[in-house]
Amino acid sequence: MFKAKPFIMLILMAVFLVTTTAVAAAGKPLAGVKVVVDAGHGGWDPGAVGVNGLTEKQINLQVAKALRNCLVEYGGAQVVMTRTDDSYVSLAARVQKANAAWADRFVSVHHNGSLNPAHNGTSVYSAKNGSAASHDLRDKVQKRLLQMTGLRDLGANTANYYVLRNTRMPAVLTEASFITNPTEEAKLRDPGYLWRQAYYIYLGLVDHMGY
Ligand SMILES: [Zn+2]
Repeated sequence: MFKAKPFIMLILMAVFLVTTTAVAAAGKPLAGVKVVVDAGHGGWDPGAVGVNGLTEKQINLQVAKALRNCLVEYGGAQVVMTRTDDSYVSLAARVQKANAAWADRFVSVHHNGSLNPAHNGTSVYSAKNGSAASHDLRDKVQKRLLQMTGLRDLGANTANYYVLRNTRMPAVLTEASFITNPTEEAKLRDPGYLWRQAYYIYLGLVDHMGY
């Protein structure tokens, strides 16, 4: 015999779950916003390398994954990652993915390198020909990252980077610190430090979205 009551209860529960999930996301600061999170380098391309062997590609990925989690869990945002493992993804493929996703914002996570091991500092970039929104996002992420790193302010700058120039949505590229500074390299080995970096980039995005 068909048991109508449990069946109806199941439907009601499903409706309840769907509505409460939607309401929960709607109450979050980045609900309805699609963000591409781009972990710089990967695969055969390590990016900058610390004197003690830490690679930029690996910490970029850790920050990118933590950023994805912050954006989804705290922000209620939709996130598209350009890579989730140690694979090589060309710059063109990253841009193509972002443009095809019709994302609202693009955040590329990098760390800086210098031949001078004493050099350290925080900077964030937007494209030279970027929109006002991209410059605003850059300024707000830079402000938040500085609060977290406490490093020298190397400025919110413009650059002609491929991923900034060719993405159709407001885009920024973060360089929270220098992996080539041995003191900084040691800090960057701490997952908690990387998580905080991600969280402050997230806060910058939230500050910006009221723009
Ligand atoms: Zn890089």
